[in-house]
Amino acid sequence: AQERYASIRDLPAETTCGQVISLQMNAGLMADLPSLPTSGADGVGLFRTELQFLLRNKMPRRGELVEIYDRVLNAAQGKRVVFRTLDIGSDKVLPYMNPLDEPNPALGWRAIRVGLDRPGVLRMQLQALMRAAKGRPLTVMFPFIAQYDEYRAAKAEVDNALDRERKLGHVLPSKLEIGAMLETPSLAFAPQKFFDEVEFLSIGGNDLKQFFFAADRENERVRKRYDTLNVSFLSLIESIVNRCAISGTPVSFCGEDAGRPVEAACLAAMGLRTLSMRPASIGPVKSLLRRTNITELKQVIADARDRGDQSVRPAVMEYLRNNAQ
Ligand code: PEP
Ligand code: MG
Repeated sequence: AQERYASIRDLPAETTCGQVISLQMNAGLMADLPSLPTSGADGVGLFRTELQFLLRNKMPRRGELVEIYDRVLNAAQGKRVVFRTLDIGSDKVLPYMNPLDEPNPALGWRAIRVGLDRPGVLRMQLQALMRAAKGRPLTVMFPFIAQYDEYRAAKAEVDNALDRERKLGHVLPSKLEIGAMLETPSLAFAPQKFFDEVEFLSIGGNDLKQFFFAADRENERVRKRYDTLNVSFLSLIESIVNRCAISGTPVSFCGEDAGRPVEAACLAAMGLRTLSMRPASIGPVKSLLRRTNITELKQVIADARDRGDQSVRPAVMEYLRNNAQ
């Protein structure tokens, strides 16, 4: 399938109305790294660091993590890699940590909540990332931030880690960018000061959709009831993009929907200019974007919304059939 898109691999994902969309890849395993040059991705928009932890039967040591992150940065050859700190809990349970008996693990003690309450592992991870980056730019993203305070507390961990590394005389990253995932609806309504302060945001559509519609992402029966192209969800996305525009905060989208061509085109029409997806999706998404006028598509979406459509999908599909040959 990759070969089918080889002819456009080195071409930009530029829409027919002249908007260039940056397509990045999601990764987490060493086996993903060769896809960075072959997929035509502009960078790694989401590196899920928990996968390295899930593969082992005991907690990895800091030295091992430094080695892994160093290899990731080497493979990226200067392209940006967004390292997401450990996102465990819920469906991702570490075999060497006692699982909690929680009635609603998806709404439970997970991700940054664990990282802030028991900061040992987060601190080790931040230190390992800084040591791997030494002299190179480093980008770190916190998962599951639900309120401004959690971002500030996580950011303080970074500042402390940086201080420690400086005092120890280690070479620091040449540049440090700190961002958050927006994957709980609450964060979309955070004070504008949060948007001013955070250096970038990435919309985690998988979780955001699950919490927005109150529909378990693992439960086929309820998950399928709610379309990503539902007008309510697209309005939420649009309002996040608008709030980010006010503060000049770069925003991307890294849930699975970014890798579905029709969904990706609609996300671009809602104003997103960076999409991160599994490597095999980059070709198909780029192919459709290069045939689509997202300014017109935005109007199609607005019209469907005004008519009271529940999902804009039928209108969008008809438009694409007639216009994106
Ligand atoms: C998401 O929630 O959309 C996301 C990208 O993170 P994960 O799928 O790892 O929860
Ligand atoms: Mg998530």
